[in-house]
Amino acid sequence: MTESDPRRSIPRTDYLLTLPEVVAAAQRLGQATVKAVIAEAQSAARDGRITPAEVAPTVIDRLGSRSASSLTPVLNATGIIVHTNLGRAPLSEAAQQAVADAAGYVDVEMDLATGKRSKRGTGVKQALLRTCPAAEDAVIVNNGAAALLLAVTALRADHSSARGHRAGPSTAQGPQVDVPVARSVDAEEIIVSRGELIEIGAGFRLTDLMTTTGARLHEVGTTNRTHLTDYANAIGPESANLLKVHTSNFRVEGFTSSVEVSELRGLADEHNLPLIVDLGSGLFTHDDALPDEPDVDAALRAGADVVIVSGDKLLGGPQAGLVLGRTEAVQRIATHPLARAMRTDKLTLAALEATITHTGNPVHDALHIDLDELRRRTETLAEVVGATVVAHDGRVGGGGAPGVPLPGWAIELPEDCAAALRTDDPAIVTRVHQGRCLVDLRCVPAGDDERIAAAITRVLTGGDDVHVDTVTHTVGSNLLGDHD
Ligand SMILES: *Cc1c(COP(=O)(O)O)cnc(C)c1O
Repeated sequence: MTESDPRRSIPRTDYLLTLPEVVAAAQRLGQATVKAVIAEAQSAARDGRITPAEVAPTVIDRLGSRSASSLTPVLNATGIIVHTNLGRAPLSEAAQQAVADAAGYVDVEMDLATGKRSKRGTGVKQALLRTCPAAEDAVIVNNGAAALLLAVTALRADHSSARGHRAGPSTAQGPQVDVPVARSVDAEEIIVSRGELIEIGAGFRLTDLMTTTGARLHEVGTTNRTHLTDYANAIGPESANLLKVHTSNFRVEGFTSSVEVSELRGLADEHNLPLIVDLGSGLFTHDDALPDEPDVDAALRAGADVVIVSGDKLLGGPQAGLVLGRTEAVQRIATHPLARAMRTDKLTLAALEATITHTGNPVHDALHIDLDELRRRTETLAEVVGATVVAHDGRVGGGGAPGVPLPGWAIELPEDCAAALRTDDPAIVTRVHQGRCLVDLRCVPAGDDERIAAAITRVLTGGDDVHVDTVTHTVGSNLLGDHD
C-alpha cells in the first residue's frame, strides 16, 4: 500500500466503535455482531466496493436495520396460511404477550403459594382438557414429530402374559434380570396403511422417524385402497400398535378407500393393541371452512387411544406436539424417559396456553377472512399501485386440508417484482405463479396494507430491473365476481 493509497484512510475499528450510533447498537446487538458489521464494511472498502468515506455511514446504516436475531420479520403475501418456510403459524397478540411475560423468571415449576416445586405445564394442560372434553389427559412435547416418536415408542402392546417379561424400551434403571424375551423389541411392528406413509417436507419422512425407534413398519393395503381386513390380516404376535396418519399434505383421489378410526377401534380392542391417530393439523373441533379435515374431538370419540397434533399448524400456536387421549395411554407417554428429551420450554408453554384460552388468532382469522373486506382491501391496493386484481385461491398450506382452495383475490405484478419485494424492508413474500408476481392480502394484517402499497410503488418506480410499463393500469373488475 502506498502513501497515497486511499485504502489508508479506511476508518479504524477502535474509532468506529466510539461513534454514538455504534455504541448504542452494541448495547442492543452485542459487541461481536457490531465488530462483524464493521469488518464487513472495512473489507468492502478495501475491495473498492465502497469508498473509505462510506465506511462509517455504511456501518451505521447496517446496524440501524439489524435486529438482535438474524431472523427477518416477513409480510406473508402468498395467500398460504400455514407457510412452513415462513414459520408456520404467526402467534396471536395474546400469545406474543404471554411469551414476553414468560421470558424472564417465571413460576413454571413452582407453586408460589407454598414455595414448593410444582409440575411444569399444568396450566396449559388444564386449558387443553377444557377445550377438548373428549380427552382425559394430555402431554406436550416439542413438535408433532416428537409426539409421534414418543407415542409409537411408549405405546406398545403388552404381550408379556403370553411370553413372559418383555424388554420394554423404557427401563434404563439397571440390568433387567427376569427377561425371558421371546424376541427383541426391534421385531415389533407398527401397523399402518401404505397410503398414509407421508413425507412432510424437506425430505422428512414419517417412515424414517418411526423406524428409528427400533420398530418395523408393517404396511398394509395399497397406495389408494386399504380395508379393515388388511389391518386384521397383518395383526400377529409381533404387533405393537395400530397407527393411522392423516395425509396432511396430499390427497389421493378417484378409486380410494381407507379405514375409519371407529373401525380400527374394534380391531384394537379385539387384539388389545394401542390405537394411535396422528392428525398433524390441529383442529380441535370441526370447522365448516374445511369440511374434510379431521378433528381431535371426532378422532377421540371414534376411539383413538391418543391423538397427535402439531401446535403450529391449524391450531395457530407455537411449535409444539400435543398428545391427547386416554389417561392410561397418555401417562405411559408422559412418563417415558424420552419425554424428558422432548420437553417444551416455558416460552412454548406460555404461547400455547394463550393460544388455547383466547379465541381467534391469525391462522383462524386468515381462514375465516371476510371476503368483502379482502376484496375491498385488494381493490384499494390495486388502485394505489396501479395494478390489476385477479381471482386467487389461498391455501391452508403445510398445515392440512390439502387441495382445498380458499377463494379470494390478489393483485398481479410483473414476475421480477417478487425478488425486489422479498429483499425490501419490510420483506414481502409474494406468490410467483405462471410468470406473474401475485400479492394476496389474506395473511397480511390489514394495518400493513399501506406498507405493502408503499413497497410496491417503490419497486415499480425505482427498481432498475422492473419495468413499470408491463403493469396493466386497470383495475380488473370482471374477475371479481368469481367467488361471490
Ligand atoms: C406435520 C405433521 C407431523 C409433524 O409435526 P411437526 O409439528 O411438524 O413436527 C406429523 N404428522 C403429521 C400427519 C403431520 O401433518
